Amino acid sequence: MAVWPKDSENDGLQAHFRPTDPDPRTEITRFPFIRRLLKSRKFQFFWILPNQIIFWVVILTGLLGVASPTRNFSTVITWYIWFCAVFLLMVGVGRGWCLMCPFGGFAEWVQRSTFWNRRPKSLTLGRRWSERLSRYGLLPSVALFVLLTYFEEFYNIAAPGVPAYTSTLVLFVIGSALISFLLLERRSFCRYLCPLSALIGTVGATGMVTGFRTRDRQVCLDCKTKDCMRGSEHGYPCPWYEWPGSATSNLMCGLCTECFKSCPSDNIGLFLQKPLTSVIQPLRRRWDIALGIAALLGLVLFQQVNALPVYATVDGWLNARMHFPGYPNPVDYLGIIAAVVGVISAYVWLVQKVFTRRDRKPDSTFTQWFMPIAYGLIPLLAADYLARQLPRFWDHFLRIVPAISDPFDLGWNLFGTAHSPLYNVHVLSTAGVVRSQLIVVALGMIASAYATWRIVGRDLRSMSLRANGLRLATSGFTLLLGASMLALYVAMGGAQ
Ligand code: SF4
Ligand code: SF4
Ligand code: SF4
Repeated sequence: MAVWPKDSENDGLQAHFRPTDPDPRTEITRFPFIRRLLKSRKFQFFWILPNQIIFWVVILTGLLGVASPTRNFSTVITWYIWFCAVFLLMVGVGRGWCLMCPFGGFAEWVQRSTFWNRRPKSLTLGRRWSERLSRYGLLPSVALFVLLTYFEEFYNIAAPGVPAYTSTLVLFVIGSALISFLLLERRSFCRYLCPLSALIGTVGATGMVTGFRTRDRQVCLDCKTKDCMRGSEHGYPCPWYEWPGSATSNLMCGLCTECFKSCPSDNIGLFLQKPLTSVIQPLRRRWDIALGIAALLGLVLFQQVNALPVYATVDGWLNARMHFPGYPNPVDYLGIIAAVVGVISAYVWLVQKVFTRRDRKPDSTFTQWFMPIAYGLIPLLAADYLARQLPRFWDHFLRIVPAISDPFDLGWNLFGTAHSPLYNVHVLSTAGVVRSQLIVVALGMIASAYATWRIVGRDLRSMSLRANGLRLATSGFTLLLGASMLALYVAMGGAQ
């Protein structure tokens, strides 16, 4: 029998689990054509393949192509288009990128030693992820994202800088995934380590796809085989260690369709949901996700602050004092992230002090208050990351047109666009770029205030005095954070 890693979502769920059932009318998989597609073992392969080709071309062109980063295919597609497109995909579809991701996809092909077949053996040592570390959930992913972003800033990779650095970064992620897949079982890398996983999972909670869910929970509770978790000849055991019968959010469903193929009772479907459902609905929240949200918010706020002239002065002063070679100084980098986590924590502490009912004080913990308030910030987090990508996108995404014609700097003109004037076209003026950022953040701010109002009203109702006062205080804090981001975007003036 398979042994499942402990985490706060899956612990003891057969005994306590009470999810909200998905609405059968919104089931995408009720259409026979879609069912046939998703049942095919080649389904995920054909999503991964195009991205796999593009990313190997990215690696090669970064190493061998034109030296100018604004003309090199690898830097143009990665930093002007891909990063922005991935955020749109997260906001729309949750882990849609994970379905087609070439990093995990490549490593999984090697691990399974097949592109799509169900093979009984895998090429892996099959080690379990440490139970002690699994308590920290996605925090290693958050830490690795913070570390990788530091190197990206230090080497100016996404500005974009030297194209070979982009290739190195992509090779590093693919290499780490490969090593991890060869050592650890299933997609432990995606579940715990991938630097993108925490961001995709949290931002993806705003999305309109539920992930794979059971149609009738009672059938799952009575199910003897649990093929979705243990695998069968039709499908692999869930690579993400999820049980579709327990899911109350789309956080950890990689949309790989294995459970859909292997459930003997045909009790699994893919459903649509209203935006923000996976932010508001979860009945049990995860402290690692809540802390991750605060840290990721700190990181994107750092990326706003670093575009202000005053930051360069402070960073330069710190570097001179510490004899540190260049931007960004690790003290201000980590300091800004820690300060944002600190401000959010201090606010939660204050709110807890003011609003906890006297008779509930003995059993009211900081984490109980921190989790719902942090989850409410997810839409703002999503909006801020997306807004931060917009200047590069609007100013330069058309540079892909000349870049695709001569990716290896061999004097080719594959599509007749090598000298296209689109290279110099900016789709929006600077004022237009700033307006687009303000619109995105304003939408995120409103969505966050709404989500916070709903979450706090439900999760903290039994703990708090003056429920409406608490809702106003927490939603107001969200609006204040959003307003600070708006002010920063105005001050940044469309800076990249
Ligand atoms: S978690 Fe990371 S490696 Fe895994 S599929 Fe998602 S982006 Fe790719
Ligand atoms: S195999 Fe099907 S019925 Fe059994 S637990 Fe999994 S989803 Fe439910
Ligand atoms: S097996 Fe099912 S629940 Fe697990 S990641 Fe794949 S689609 Fe999601």
